[in-house]
Amino acid sequence: MIVVIFRIGIDDTDTSSGYCTTFVATLLLEEALRLGFEIIDFPHLVRLNPNIPYKTRGNAAVALILKGEIEKVEILFKKFEEICEGLIDEKADKPNPVMAFYNGDQELLREFYNRCLVSEISIEETMGLARKLGIKFLALRGVRGLIGAIAAIGANLDEFTYELLAYRDPNDKGRERGLSYAKVLEMDRLFKKYTFHNIDEGKKRILITPHGRDPVLVGIRGSDPDKLIEAFKFLGIQAQRWLIFKTNQGTDAHLKEAMKNENFARYGVIYEEAKIKDRPKVMPGGHVILDCLIKGKHAEALVYSESGAMNKLARYLHEGDLVRIGGGIKEIGASKMTINVERIEILSLSDVYLRKRPVCARCGSRLKSAGSGKGLICKNCKIEIPFEFHILTKIERPLMEGQVLLPPPRSRRHLTKPIEGNYQGIRKEFSLDYFYSKFLFPQKESVVNLS
Ligand code: ATP
Repeated sequence: MIVVIFRIGIDDTDTSSGYCTTFVATLLLEEALRLGFEIIDFPHLVRLNPNIPYKTRGNAAVALILKGEIEKVEILFKKFEEICEGLIDEKADKPNPVMAFYNGDQELLREFYNRCLVSEISIEETMGLARKLGIKFLALRGVRGLIGAIAAIGANLDEFTYELLAYRDPNDKGRERGLSYAKVLEMDRLFKKYTFHNIDEGKKRILITPHGRDPVLVGIRGSDPDKLIEAFKFLGIQAQRWLIFKTNQGTDAHLKEAMKNENFARYGVIYEEAKIKDRPKVMPGGHVILDCLIKGKHAEALVYSESGAMNKLARYLHEGDLVRIGGGIKEIGASKMTINVERIEILSLSDVYLRKRPVCARCGSRLKSAGSGKGLICKNCKIEIPFEFHILTKIERPLMEGQVLLPPPRSRRHLTKPIEGNYQGIRKEFSLDYFYSKFLFPQKESVVNLS
């Protein structure tokens, strides 16, 4: 009997009509406990490069950190196969469920995870890495899921938050989660210090429930796992299972990584200084285009109308302003790139003046040009000033150096760090207090009323 500490990575089990990787991870964890494995840490839920087109929703992958008999890992692989049996999606090439096993040095995968946050990784490279490090994996269809599965294993999560995810019966495909805006607003008010992105007050929208038919009832994000349980209890909804994950959500992990290297490639994440070259253009649908120079390269930064205040404020930017733009590269050519903007930080603002002709000292009406090279004239009094001059008025703009512009919570990335407070996770040891399954612990009382 050989006992080892190991990591299981899973990804690409999602379909648009049901399931999601965190739920599959929860079922696997349940099986791991049945088999007598010890849980070493909270399961890691990582969000990877948000610009990758292969994602179903939020580009999530999960890793379990377990200790136990290596011989029994085979049973976990079988369970994974059983869970994913019959998963199909409307998209012809989805899903590509993969489960990977690794009991080597996690440090060797750190760089892979970091690159997965900010760039596109090829399947060939990933397979090569798996071979080199002896990562065992089971791919149930294509192998694309291996990328996220290995990245999740490699995620070090130096900075993290938590998310409590509660699930209903997976056969229950209803869209209703039985939560009112008023209830979630109340929960938000009570737990504001510890939880984030619960609601969008502008549109009065609940953000803790998905809208599809996946088994997730609610996902509450925050800094303290015990407070998440309290918040969940306050909502008083019924769940079959719930589990708390440690996650890179709300940490700007991708932007922090993007600052270290240049990712000027398709789907690359950037967080770079940009010099505004021209007046912002407002497109018919309200999208704003910022013409700028990034490391000497011409860029069009798109600030979508859905970005709320960020879109409105971006309209006040002006030639000569220096900002730091965070976002994903949509297209890139030899001379120009297009960026989907998700964050703008204002570094320095140029002085912008409004030029106005003076008024006539006698009648007070505005002087006009007397013709090319001829100075100014008052059309009423016929007084002429032989040279043209202007009064310059400095324009005050609703922008400040150091200001950070973000979209409203409803339009943010999972990875986006909220500006509403500090939600950095506090370190806690995992215990079974952070996991509930109606099936695994029939005696244990759920924190919600299951009567
Ligand atoms: P959900 O949010 O519901 O969990 P999802 O958005 O996570 O769904 P997946 O079904 O997991 O979507 O699909 C994402 C796919 O993209 C996976 O196969 C994953 O391996 C792959 N992937 C993730 N990051 C990268 C990357 N940086 N480069 C290339 N492929 C990636």
